[in-house]
Amino acid sequence: MFRLTREPISIADHARAIADPHSGGYVDFRGCVRNHHLGRDVRRLHYDVYELLAISEGQRIVDEALARFDIDAVSCIHRVGDLEVGETAVWVGVGAAHRDAAFAACRYVIDEIKNRVPIWKHEFYADGTSSWVGCDGCSHAHGEHRYRQQTAVPGVGSAGQTRLSEAHVLIVGVGALGCPVADALVGAGVGRVSLVDGDHVELSNLHRQGLYVETDAGAPKVDAARRRLVERNSSVRVDGYASMLDEPLWRRLIDEVDLVLECTDSADSKCRVSRWCKAASMPVIVGGVHQLSGGFYVSPLSVDQGVCWDCLSGLSADCGQAGVLGPTPMMIGAAMAGEALRRLMRMNSPLTGRWTVLDLAGGHFASFEPASRPGCTCLSPANSDSGGVERTTLDPSLIWLDLRTDAERVREPLPDAIPVSPDALLSGFPLDANQAYLLVCARGRRSGVAARALRDRGLQNVWSLAGGTEAANRSTSRNLPHKGVSAAADAQSIA
Ligand SMILES: [Zn+2]
Repeated sequence: MFRLTREPISIADHARAIADPHSGGYVDFRGCVRNHHLGRDVRRLHYDVYELLAISEGQRIVDEALARFDIDAVSCIHRVGDLEVGETAVWVGVGAAHRDAAFAACRYVIDEIKNRVPIWKHEFYADGTSSWVGCDGCSHAHGEHRYRQQTAVPGVGSAGQTRLSEAHVLIVGVGALGCPVADALVGAGVGRVSLVDGDHVELSNLHRQGLYVETDAGAPKVDAARRRLVERNSSVRVDGYASMLDEPLWRRLIDEVDLVLECTDSADSKCRVSRWCKAASMPVIVGGVHQLSGGFYVSPLSVDQGVCWDCLSGLSADCGQAGVLGPTPMMIGAAMAGEALRRLMRMNSPLTGRWTVLDLAGGHFASFEPASRPGCTCLSPANSDSGGVERTTLDPSLIWLDLRTDAERVREPLPDAIPVSPDALLSGFPLDANQAYLLVCARGRRSGVAARALRDRGLQNVWSLAGGTEAANRSTSRNLPHKGVSAAADAQSIA
């Protein structure tokens, strides 16, 4: 449970609520108001909050902790409003039968709360002045100093740095390629990085996976990587998913992400991810390494025109069994990260749309435009573009189905649409073959994928809103339209 309160937090009451003879024990974290910050005497503070979003995001973090760790109960209470020095500002309690899981879950919850929940701290000092802590203004000033060598590069500047800070990159696989990629992107100030990897750290990884140290052995890679990356740059939001990238997770992330880097050592994953990206018009960079050589492919600017890893098969091998010298993936990963930064900052690169090989054994560096493999499934019409499922307006004669998350709906209400998650829609949500539906999400990727899947199942009257609510907002001066009463009534009748 996650709660906000304006009253002093009674820790004893909350601790009693999570106590359970089955767990046997609990750990808790208590954050208090400090009397100093950056050398200044703090007298009191005020927490401002965006309440609806804070509650939904806080509850999501608590639910994530319950799903990820072997624990029995989690509770988190955050104060808002005015606080005096010494008062409890936030309290997290975790009940579990195993102390390792309890400590890990408690740390996860407090880290995520600090990173993701929209609560802002306003400090008041002994000298009568005050300032916001960790707000955009302060982090901007920090950023100018931190990135000055980067913004000095021609073509970057503060505009490029801003583009990086607004970008969200998905890194699939945090192994030999994913480590240098994540390290470079987080260091460069990419605003949000999501890591997906179901593996645990092993000692045999350490010679080539620089984010990990000996004491990480046995830990999920995404947790160890996240810990290190947040230490490298605390202004970057780093999310970790300790699983393989399956279709439900892809559908969840697809609309929020600007660029995908496929960094696993699995040819299956590279084929799947590169094909999904092509189908969703998502820019992707895919890499592979083998002993002393490796290569990577950067999708072209018209991303639906690129090839998939299947088309590239024969050009690279996996490092899993064949062995690899550590510096090979470090070099390939660094080059992939460089291409990612240029793509995000909209800088031209001669490697865009090309397969680039670095062969340290033979001393060769080469780059060429690869051809599609005749007969490859990535060339089928359903995979190559929007497949003719797109509508460009919020047509009121269609029944609108809103595939966005609760948090997205709070930010941008679309009251006449029926809320349904993409997973629920594709697993038995009742649709009437005689009705016409318009699927809506934030950017049109989740809705496009779902519309094509429903078309494949024989439902021909299903459409996707091109560009999602963001595009609709741009064309209607930031006010999403309401439907007429009769269309809304129709929608209600099938809910
Ligand atoms: Zn292909």
